[in-house]
Formats: sequence, structure tokens, C-alpha cells
Amino acid sequence: MKTINDFNFQDKKALIRVDFNVPLNNEFEVTDDTRIQSAKSTIIKILEDGGSCVLMSHLGRPKGVDEKYSLKHIVDKVSEVIGVQVKFAEDCVGHTAEDAVADLKSGEILLLENLRFHSEEKSGDEDFAEQLSKLGDIYVNDAFGTAHRAHASTAVVAQFFPENKCFGNLLAKEIESIDKVLNNSEKPVLAVLGGAKVSSKITVIENILDKVDHLIIGGGMTFTFVKAKGGKVGNSICEDDKMDLALEILEKAKAKNVQIHIPVDVVGADNFANDANTQVLDVTQIPEGWQGLDAGPKSLANFEEVVNQCKTILWNGPLGVFEMKTFSKGTIALGNYIENATKNGAFSLVGGGDSVAAVKQFGFADKVSYVSTGGGAMLESLEGKTLPGIEAILN
Ligand code: AMP
Repeated sequence: MKTINDFNFQDKKALIRVDFNVPLNNEFEVTDDTRIQSAKSTIIKILEDGGSCVLMSHLGRPKGVDEKYSLKHIVDKVSEVIGVQVKFAEDCVGHTAEDAVADLKSGEILLLENLRFHSEEKSGDEDFAEQLSKLGDIYVNDAFGTAHRAHASTAVVAQFFPENKCFGNLLAKEIESIDKVLNNSEKPVLAVLGGAKVSSKITVIENILDKVDHLIIGGGMTFTFVKAKGGKVGNSICEDDKMDLALEILEKAKAKNVQIHIPVDVVGADNFANDANTQVLDVTQIPEGWQGLDAGPKSLANFEEVVNQCKTILWNGPLGVFEMKTFSKGTIALGNYIENATKNGAFSLVGGGDSVAAVKQFGFADKVSYVSTGGGAMLESLEGKTLPGIEAILN
């Protein structure tokens, strides 16, 4: 696996795919610069070698050229984060971009206009990718958030750099973290899968049954499993058409010697609202009119014991409706258990879907080993898929 550390960038122009798809407010100010911070170490290494950086990214989902989605809005923020005044090219291909690249000197950074102003980016057009390839000597992919897309800048462009292509530090770290959990893991391995629905996690569950020793199933998925086994789930979220699948998963887990842990009690509510009446209920005896919205105390005690035994922990999805304070306690408690396990030497990876939002909101982001930067890309990795953006560098 080639990374930027295998190259000396002196007098070279690095064409770097970054993920600067950052949130902007109505004044077009960046409200969360995490994604820019994440690309910093790659950019700095290249500049310190004596090279220059040509940064390309998408922003939002524009249909053609649309001022609202111009990357010019983020030039000042990128300059501030990196500590170098960033230049801007008003197009990502053609003369405008090529002239700006020709003028670029060692130690300088050029940001190209939004790739998605050209529909050829998303369609993975080869000619467009070839035009992009003229803008650098070495292609660096550091955008995990779009690595599951076979777009021109994320995958197709790599073929024009047969020898000179590599991963940036961020993407390398993502690949390493997934590998540490799925392939080179220290046992026992635990996956915690929460979130709303079995249907959106089914491929993940099937793939990781071969990789883990323990699987905690929480959140809204709980009730499809409980009802499938004959329990009463009241008005809890439940996918009746996935009950057979739930039973199949339980059978497969047994055959593979994977221990499955499902909540035994829940915080029941008489309404899907923060100010609902609540009571702790046996997960198999939820009355009509009540729904389980968080893991209960006995379940949490069980989960703590499991987390404490494990040396590798993957966390995807909240244990309850964490957006409402009343039902956030289970997710916070789980965060605490994983924080402790990490302190005691376990490797913990959080990623995919909503878990990153929960982990950031409750302040666990720097208490776990790694928080993934890609929701969809992480889910697809956990499903066992090879991501086009990663494959294009490896090939
Ligand atoms: P996901 O994107 O699949 O990780 O799902 C996250 C969503 O699952 C969050 O918005 C939670 O509010 C929701 N969720 C978690 N537990 C429950 C539950 N018991 N009932 C309904 N929704 C839930």
C-alpha cells in the first residue's frame, strides 16, 4: 500500500483529492472545519518536502455551475487551517486550471473550483479525468468520504498515474483502522450495531459475523429480533418483514460461535417525545401504547461486562434515540464503557451512519482510538465491499 510517505515531493506538484464538502451557514462561512483539519497532515508533508499542492474537492450537490456551491467560499478557512495563503482557480479543468497550476511554485497551494460543476465528475468520465490528470505529477487520494464512489477524481483519474499514485495520511489511517477491526484484530472482537433499522445494517451484520466474537445489537433493531423470538414489543419500531432474517442471523451466529447480546430491558415511552412518560420495561413485555426508545439498566450492565472483555471494538449506531435527552443515556453509557476499555488498551473504532454525530455530541471523539470520517464509505467497508477509490490506488 503506497502512501505519501513513500514519495519525496520536492519540486513535484501533488494533485490531491480531498473531502472539503464542509457545512456553510447563510453567510457562506464554514461552520465545521473537521474535514479541512483532517487533510492538514498530508498537505503539510508535501509542502515540507518542497512540493506544491493542487487540491480538488466537491461541495454539496450542485446541478451545473452554481455560485452557492463555489469552493471560493472556503479559501480563507483553508488558508487559516493550513497556515498558508491558498490560491484559487475558478475552474477545475481547462486553461484556467492549467495556467494556475503552471504558475504554482514549491510551497504553494492551489484550490480548484467545485468538481461537481461538471457532470462528468459524477459520471466518472475518462476524458474529464484525463484533463484533471494534467494538473499534477503525483495523484494523492485523501478523501475517505467519497472513496465508495467511482467518480472521475476519486477513482478514474488514478489510471493516468500508473506509478505515481498513493494514499494520503487520512485515507491510509482509515484503511488501517478498518483492517485492525476486520482482519488483523486482537481478540476478543466486539461489534456494537445500533441505529434504527435491521434493513439498513443487514449486509454489515452478515459480513462481520465472520470477524467478531461478540455482537451487541441495540437501538431500534432490537425489536425486530425480540418480536421474531415471540416477545411483545408494543409500539416499538419493528420491521415485521425482516423477522425471518433476524432469526436466520441468530442461527448463523450460533453456528459461527458468535455471542449475540440483545437488550433485556428498555426505557419505554408512551410517546415518541422527550417529555413522554417513561418506565423501564422487560424487552419482551412492552404493552400496546408503549415503545422502547433506549437500553435499560440491566442491558447496560450486561453490555459493560462484554465491552470490558474485548480487545477490539467497533461501534456503529446509537443504542437509543440519542437526539432526545431522555433517551440518550444508553448511548452515553456505552460511550463511557468504550472509553474505559480504550484506556485499558483496547482498539476502538467508531464509524458509519449516525454514530459519529453521537460520539461528537457527547464528547467521546478523542476518547476512542479512531473516529471514521466517512459515513457511507465506512458502512460499505464494513459490508466487505472494496471501495473504488481505494482499489484504484492499489491496482
Ligand atoms: P443509523 O443511522 O442507522 O445509525 O440510525 C440512527 C437513528 O436510530 C437515530 O436517529 C436514532 O434516533 C434511531 N434510533 C435508535 N434507537 C431507536 C429506537 N429504539 N427507536 C427508534 N429509533 C431509534
